[in-house]
Amino acid sequence: QEELSPHQSSGEQEIEASLRPRKLADFVGQPRVREQLKLVLHGALGRGEQPDHVLFAGPPGLGKTSLAMILASELSASIRVTSGPALERPGDLAAMLSNLTAGDVLFIDEIHRMARPAEEMLYLAMEDYRVDVVVGKGPGATSIPLDIAPFTLVGATTRSGSLTGPLRDRFGFTANMEFYEPSELGEVIRRSAGILGVRLREDGAHEIARRCRGTPRIANRLLRRVRDYAEVRSDGTVTVEVARAALEVYDVDELGLDRLDRAVLGALARSFNGGPVGISTLAVAVGEEQSTIEEVCEPYLVRAGMLARTPRGRVATAAAWQHLGLVPPANAFG
Ligand code: ADP
Repeated sequence: QEELSPHQSSGEQEIEASLRPRKLADFVGQPRVREQLKLVLHGALGRGEQPDHVLFAGPPGLGKTSLAMILASELSASIRVTSGPALERPGDLAAMLSNLTAGDVLFIDEIHRMARPAEEMLYLAMEDYRVDVVVGKGPGATSIPLDIAPFTLVGATTRSGSLTGPLRDRFGFTANMEFYEPSELGEVIRRSAGILGVRLREDGAHEIARRCRGTPRIANRLLRRVRDYAEVRSDGTVTVEVARAALEVYDVDELGLDRLDRAVLGALARSFNGGPVGISTLAVAVGEEQSTIEEVCEPYLVRAGMLARTPRGRVATAAAWQHLGLVPPANAFG
C-alpha cells in the first residue's frame, strides 16, 4: 500500500526530483491553472511588484510542489521550502520569515496542518511583510515588530476545506488542481520514460495512463514498477502485456484502484450495506486514518463515480457494486 499510495516515501524524493518539470512549458495538463498562474505572474512582473500569495489545493501527487518550484524559477527567485507540521512553534516560522531576502518564494506544504499561533503570525507577514516577535513570558512579555523582506507565499493543501477563513482570504489566488486526463498522463509517462531511459511502447504508456488514478506521481511510480517487470520477466520493453502483468503483481486493478480504494468500497458494501455511513466509522472499518481516506482515497473514488458523499454519510454507487462484482440489496440507492 505504502509503495503505491500517492504519498511520497522518503527514498523516492531523489527520483521525483529528476522527473519534476522545471519550466511551465514542461508542466503537462492543468490548462486552467497554468493560464491563471501566467496572468498572476506577468501582471505582477509588468508592474514591478511582488506577485500575490498563491494557494494550490488538491489531492497529493497532482503537481502542487512542482508548480511552486516552477513559479519561483519563472520569477528567477529563490524558494524556501517548509511544511505546516514543521512549523509547530511560532518561533520556527519567525526564523524562516526573517531569513527571507526580497523577492523570495516561501513554500509551505500541508499548510492546513500549521499550528494556530504560527498561522496567526503568518497573517501579518502576508499582509504587511511584518512579524511581531514576542519576547519574554507573562505580564512582562513584550512584542517587537520586525520588518521582513517582500516575499510571495505559496501554500499547498490537500484539504482546502480545513483552512481557516482568515488564512484563505490572504491568498490572492487559489488554484484548484484537477485529476489528469489519460492523454495528459500519457505525456507525463513518455517524458519520464525519456528521462529514465525506459523503452516504452505506446500501448504500454496508454495502459499505465489509464490505471494511475489520474495522478502523475502514481503514473511515474507505476512506470518504474512496470519497467522492473519488463527487465526481469521480459526483454525490457514496456508493452501493454507487460504493463498488465506487472500491475496485477502490484495489486492495481483494472480501473487503477489500489488496495485501500478497494478496502473502502468493500467495507462500504459488505459491512454497511452500501451506506450511508459516517467517515469515522468507515475509517475504523478499514483500519486507516480518517484523513488518509478523506484526502487520498475519496477524491478519486468520487471522481471515478464509485462513491458519493451525502449529508448522511458515504454511499457506494451502482458502479461500485458492479466493480466489486456484488449485487446491491433491493433497498440500495434510496
Ligand atoms: P504534489 O505536491 O501535488 O503532491 P508534486 O508536485 O510533488 O505533487 O508531483 C509529484 C511528481 O509528479 C513530480 O515529481 C513530477 O514528477 C510529477 N508531476 C506532477 N505533475 C506533473 C505535471 N503536470 N507534468 C509532469 N510531471 C508531473
